[in-house]
Amino acid sequence: ALSENGLITLRPLGTGGLVGSVTPTNHFTHLLEQHDQQAAAIVHDFRSPLTSIMGFAQFMEADATPEQKEILGIMLSEARRIADLIDDFLMVSRSRAAILDMREVDLAALIRRAAAVAAPMFTEKHMVLQLDLPRTVFVEIDDRAMTRALLNLLSNAVKYSSPFSEVTVQLRMQDEEVLLSVQDHGVGLSPEDQQRLFGRFFRSSNPAIQEVKGTGLGLHTVKELIKAHGGEIWVDSELGMGSTFTIHLPLKETVLVPELV
Ligand code: ADP
Repeated sequence: ALSENGLITLRPLGTGGLVGSVTPTNHFTHLLEQHDQQAAAIVHDFRSPLTSIMGFAQFMEADATPEQKEILGIMLSEARRIADLIDDFLMVSRSRAAILDMREVDLAALIRRAAAVAAPMFTEKHMVLQLDLPRTVFVEIDDRAMTRALLNLLSNAVKYSSPFSEVTVQLRMQDEEVLLSVQDHGVGLSPEDQQRLFGRFFRSSNPAIQEVKGTGLGLHTVKELIKAHGGEIWVDSELGMGSTFTIHLPLKETVLVPELV
């Protein structure tokens, strides 16, 4: 990683280590004025009552009848959807206000943690999540923002795939970039949909997904968060075959730990 004086610093990383530093950019600084601080404060205040509603619903599940359990389950999953929307909103507010907390983070470890968080979603749909990662890849990112971006992609991969299908998360280095991809074998996207995919409130008119709940804000959020990191996101998809979303993070400097290459 680059130290403050611009020199490359190497530190021991154990096996399979890669060290790099992503160029931090503040693409959203100019949006600061437009950003509605008050809305962010209000949305932030939704979070704690929601957390207590979820906590009490979970508590009630223990002694509930099967019928009540079903209702409580629906209440909990709906409350989780609101919580996710709140977290996305707050994260975008932070990135717009250019207050991303850029630190050197092990992206491979971050992916493993996100995969553990997403695991119940996969299990529920009998889906398999494969991880194809180096042991460590150090990049300068905002841990929470990148986690939200990845969780959004993983949740879409589950939502827009059939039960029993497989999703692969791959992390690799290519030229001056770190590439993080999420590949599914789900419904896929038409070329027209791919053009509009990252727009706010976009939802495909594909009849295969009309039952799937959503707001069309997830991918827009992901795109904003990645742009705030100076990166980009691309989709490669074929209708009926599946989709691969790839996050490109630019590396200022890449240092391969010599004995491990
Ligand atoms: P939401 O899922 O809440 O609708 P998103 O912004 O995350 O919102 O996604 C926008 C739209 O893009 C979805 O409604 C869906 O039509 C399409 N989409 C997103 N991810 C995938 C995917 N992995 N496979 C197929 N279609 C997808």
